[in-house]
Amino acid sequence: GFKCGIVGLPNVGKSTLFNALTETAAAQAANYPFCTIEPNVGEVAVPDPRLDKLAAIAKSGQIIPTRLTFVDIAGLVRGASKGEGLGNQFLANIREVDAIAHVVRCFEDSDITHVEGKIAPLADIETIETELMLADLDSLEKRVDNLTKKAKGNDKDAKEQLDLVNRTLVLLREGKPARLVERKAEEERAFGMLGLLSSKPVLYVCNVEEGSAATGNAFSKAVQDQAAKEGAVAVVISAKIESEIATISREERADFLETLGLEEAGLDRLIRAGYQLLDLITYFTVGPKEARAWTIHRGTKAPAAAGVIHTDFEKGFIRAETIAFEDYVALGGEAGARDAGKLRLEGKEYVVADGDVMHFRFNT
Ligand code: GDP
Repeated sequence: GFKCGIVGLPNVGKSTLFNALTETAAAQAANYPFCTIEPNVGEVAVPDPRLDKLAAIAKSGQIIPTRLTFVDIAGLVRGASKGEGLGNQFLANIREVDAIAHVVRCFEDSDITHVEGKIAPLADIETIETELMLADLDSLEKRVDNLTKKAKGNDKDAKEQLDLVNRTLVLLREGKPARLVERKAEEERAFGMLGLLSSKPVLYVCNVEEGSAATGNAFSKAVQDQAAKEGAVAVVISAKIESEIATISREERADFLETLGLEEAGLDRLIRAGYQLLDLITYFTVGPKEARAWTIHRGTKAPAAAGVIHTDFEKGFIRAETIAFEDYVALGGEAGARDAGKLRLEGKEYVVADGDVMHFRFNT
């Protein structure tokens, strides 16, 4: 599955947020199977109203949303790249995630110490990003000698890698994250193999006080402006409110949100933003037994998409009966779509679209 790591300085609200995420997931666990929760790893359902619509049409017995994994990565402090705090352990945890949700303290509370002494979200972001970049600098500098030797020996791959590494080093030395390195599509794999922390896509989570959950505040505004400049995404959330929402029933939730002037829970927005950040899309399998959502990367072809369900589906892939979500709904389900000629038979080269309702045919 896809993993999003929650990072941030101490006392910014990471654990509060993570616990809210997993408590919500636990509260839903009765309805949703496969909900495994470890101390710092939680799987959350990705909210998707389309799935409920499909299930209603097909009268599915069960609804199974797709999931995203969140990992609470505590222990990042100034100096982590030099081994301070949990240091290396922390960095190793980040290496394993696909994207980073960076929680930034945007609430004032004199009872809760700020590690840097004052509320300054942009400075906090810089502190964290600097640690990631320093760790990357370190790991790349260690590779240069070896790559240079190989490149002299006319190793073509090594030459290309060295070029990529050097370009990345230039950027890191200017204090810019590795994700901004300009690279060709064919370099993407090699770039991924470098395992750079500052290459991961980042989502800023502005943790504001309860009163600002709907509107944001001056601190979160500053973060959003910065995110817009970087082409990044920022979400405003109140971790306190989310932890309250996590403890009330679904029925009470709508009223509670309305009182606060919120359209939906911040966690739902966060989960969806994480989904977008990872450039993920959803396809569906729908039948009387269950309606289920599956997650794939945008651009995935039908056999690989089938492989998410079972490797046999990919190995023995023949074709995929495919109905666009809109057609499925407008034509009242599979039979209607088939009659209207909207059920397509797609082959191995078909690139799955977001919302496709699919039925795979395969050899065993
Ligand atoms: P972490 O160190 O980043 O994991 O931070 P925690 O989630 O443990 O939060 C640190 C302290 O800040 C706790 O006492 C939380 O109750 C408190 N806290 C978290 N979010 C908020 C918030 O939105 N407003 C206020 N006033 N306190 C918060």
